[in-house]
Amino acid sequence: MIRIPITDLRRQYHTLAEAVRPAIEDVLASGWYIKGPVLQACEQELAAYLGVKYAVGVNSGTDALILALKAAGIGAGDKVITTAMSFTATAEAITRTGAEALFVDILPGSDSLNPNLLEAALKKGVKAILPVHLHGYPCDMDAINTFAQQHGLQVIEDCAQAIGATYGGAKVGSLGDAGCFSFFPTKNLGCYGDGGLVTTSSEAIYTQMLGLREHGMLRKNIQDYTGFNSRLDAVQAAVLRVKLPYLDGWNARRRTLAAHYQTLLAGVPVDLPPLEISAQTYSVFHHYALRIPGGRSRRDQVMAEMAQAGFECLPYYPVAQHRQAVYADSWPDNSCPEAELAAATTLALPLFPELLESEQVEIVSALKQILEQKHG
Ligand SMILES: *Cc1c(COP(=O)(O)O)cnc(C)c1O
Repeated sequence: MIRIPITDLRRQYHTLAEAVRPAIEDVLASGWYIKGPVLQACEQELAAYLGVKYAVGVNSGTDALILALKAAGIGAGDKVITTAMSFTATAEAITRTGAEALFVDILPGSDSLNPNLLEAALKKGVKAILPVHLHGYPCDMDAINTFAQQHGLQVIEDCAQAIGATYGGAKVGSLGDAGCFSFFPTKNLGCYGDGGLVTTSSEAIYTQMLGLREHGMLRKNIQDYTGFNSRLDAVQAAVLRVKLPYLDGWNARRRTLAAHYQTLLAGVPVDLPPLEISAQTYSVFHHYALRIPGGRSRRDQVMAEMAQAGFECLPYYPVAQHRQAVYADSWPDNSCPEAELAAATTLALPLFPELLESEQVEIVSALKQILEQKHG
């Protein structure tokens, strides 16, 4: 029986119920459930928080990626460079636009796209780079943006795991041509269903986004191009407006808990994640993902024994993107060795703002015991 899950959404709901319920009821009573004033206010508040001119609410983080790529002009025949290590939605979004995903390996010890490999990945047809701020760690955006500028590429950031993280003092999502966010319930800012957001300061991308999420119709009943039906609904927008003022506090709490794990795990034979990537970054620990030396079967065994002890630990992600069957033809085994190593050894411990320090002590002491047992 799992006593401490990897994330526990009920604990947060109980702290917010009194504020969330009337906000939802106001939407229900208003009769305005799609778009309307609540969505508009939500988009304005998120744009202000993230430091961008425009924010456009959509159905999900996956749709945010697909629509942002399309709004940036990416489509059939184009290529987009992305990281081998992410949730599969990242590469799937590229494929879904009709473009081809080109995978580059991660920087050892950081789980983020290695900018030094961009040059080798560049070929004819590459139009954009799609970096992912994985686990809440900002990527090396100076290196990525410099390379993009040199080669006339657009940069679309996957910020699904990193809302509130900063690089050089600026929020992720404001550093490229467009930023893509997910409000999936477990994300650092989650709603109570699916939801997503695209940020941009480009008027051209903004205008395209407004049409794309609405059947390609900016004018009523006049379809200028083929679009989607992809909007953030008013109930979810109302939930997000209640939650946004708490986000910085929750992120700070995640950082405190990550630092506490680091202290508790000193001397334990695991590879600890970095607390910070560089002096430029403020990371927001969507996951606390350490590595278990010894390879995949050892990691899976430790994970199973932790579950038996009552603690849910999960591998983010056990299959690198390029190793998914849909890319098997174009990407041979082990073409991104650092991502493969991460996929085989990564294990995330429970981390969410309401987790208690005393629970972390229990989790780490179980992990120590499991690692000390003889195995063969
Ligand atoms: C969650 C996530 C997505 C997809 O978001 P959904 O809202 O679930 O569609 C995309 N990329 C990354 C890195 C994610 O973690």
